[in-house]
Amino acid sequence: MPAPAARFIVGNWKMNGLSAEISEAAALADSLKDEPSPHRVGLCPPATLVERMARKLAGTAVEVGGQDCHGSASGAFTGDVSAEMLKEAGASLVILGHSERRAYHNETDAEVAAKVEAALRAGLEPIICVGETLDERKAGKTLAIVRGQIAGSLPTSLSGKAFALAYEPVWAIGTGLTPTLEEIEEVHREIRAAMKAQLGASGATAPILYGGSVKPSNAADILALAEVGGALVGGASLKADDFLPIVRAG
Ligand code: PEP
Repeated sequence: MPAPAARFIVGNWKMNGLSAEISEAAALADSLKDEPSPHRVGLCPPATLVERMARKLAGTAVEVGGQDCHGSASGAFTGDVSAEMLKEAGASLVILGHSERRAYHNETDAEVAAKVEAALRAGLEPIICVGETLDERKAGKTLAIVRGQIAGSLPTSLSGKAFALAYEPVWAIGTGLTPTLEEIEEVHREIRAAMKAQLGASGATAPILYGGSVKPSNAADILALAEVGGALVGGASLKADDFLPIVRAG
């Protein structure tokens, strides 16, 4: 029997974590050293911890990423962090277009696309998020919304580059709610078709992660679905004891 495809399991710490929590990342890496996983594993801490986490995890199987970057390499953008800065700090990944950035910072698809370009220029692997709100789902607009976000947020320069897409229904993030397995599969199939049409071979192979209330108890069922190539995990990625069972479920 062929080995199951490797999954990409990424933790998004959001605005959580002080120096002391680096120990959780170290505990995760230690466990994976004793129990090597076929899956790619990443952690995206707040920008203040990227450098220290990257140093701590150097030489381990756990990759480190940022949660956002600016579209420019440098300039008068108070409070922002560029892709080059994340790269220099030791990141290899960056989450872009997360629904919390789209909602609280009014990020548009065009801005997300510019950030993706910036990430690629700096040599970071972008994880681009899309997903519908509850009102959009109730109105039957899920597939159209996701298709529109893909068309607007994924520049053609992604062709031939390593990247991942994360489908994160906004109403499932941090709520304990998840779509049914059939609903997840339906959206992932649509995303695959849209990415293939837009980006060719890269769109056909880039992993599509599911995100939104992934927990140890539902991870195995979600990760077994067609076209689910991994998970983007918020709350359950903060503690190694919660995140490890999700990595194992892959
Ligand atoms: C997220 O913020 O990307 C996320 C999926 O959060 P949670 O797992 O907490 O729903």
